[in-house]
Amino acid sequence: MVIAIDGPAGSGKSSTARLVASRLGIVHLDTGAMYRAVTLKCLREGIAHTDDGALGVLMSRTSIVFEGSGSVMRTIMNGEDVTDAIRSDEVTRHVSEYCVPAVVRNALVEQQRLLGSRNSVVCEGRDIGTVVFPNAELKIYMIASVEERARRRQKDFAAMGIHKSLIELRAEIELRDRKDSTRSNSPLRKAEDALELDTTGLSLEEQAGIIVERARALSGTNDN
Ligand code: C5P
Repeated sequence: MVIAIDGPAGSGKSSTARLVASRLGIVHLDTGAMYRAVTLKCLREGIAHTDDGALGVLMSRTSIVFEGSGSVMRTIMNGEDVTDAIRSDEVTRHVSEYCVPAVVRNALVEQQRLLGSRNSVVCEGRDIGTVVFPNAELKIYMIASVEERARRRQKDFAAMGIHKSLIELRAEIELRDRKDSTRSNSPLRKAEDALELDTTGLSLEEQAGIIVERARALSGTNDN
C-alpha cells in the first residue's frame, strides 16, 4: 500500500507520517529530506541551482538512504549521517531553489518510486499524490493556518538552539509556500482525489489516528 501525504511547510506531514508508519509497521519515506540532502551537498560544493551540468554530475555520484525506523530514522548521504545538517537554517532557505531543476527531481522521483514499488510506504512531500504516486491507495493533503505553522517551526528550531521570531518565520514560510506552489515543475498542489486534513488545533495523535483508520478501512484490517 502507498499512502501519499502532501502539504505545505509546517503542516505536520513529517511527524504525522512517522507516527502513521510506526502504527502500521510500514516504511516512512520523507522526500523533503532527500531534496534537503541534495541542497546541502550543493551548498558545500558551491554548485549553483542553475548549473544543470554540475547538478547532473552531482546527482550521479550521490546516494541518499534512510536507516533505522520510527523516531530514530537517520538520513545517510554517501555514508555520512546528515540528519541534523539538512535541518539547518541555510539548507531550509535554499531548498526551494535546488528542488526545481528537472535533473534533480527526475533522479529523486525515480528513487522514490523504486522504494514504493518494493515496500508499503507512507510517502510525504509536495508532489507525492500528483506526480510520484498518482495511483496511491490513500492520498492526504494536510493544511494548517500559517500562524500555527510558524509556531510549530519556532518549536522545532528552539529544540536545535535556534531562536527566531514568529514574524520572521511566518515570512519564510509564506515565501517557501509561494515558491513551492508556483513553480512549473511538480508544484505543490492538492490531488483531486486527496482527502484534505486541516491540522490546525489537532494533536499529532488525532491527525495520525484519522489516517491510520482510513488506511485500515481500505486494507480491511481493524486490529490495533
Ligand atoms: O518537507 P520539507 O519542508 O522538509 O521539504 C523541504 C523542501 O523540499 C520543500 O520546501 C520543497 O521545496 C521541497 N520538496 C519538493 N518536493 C517534495 C518534497 C519536498 O519540492 N516531494
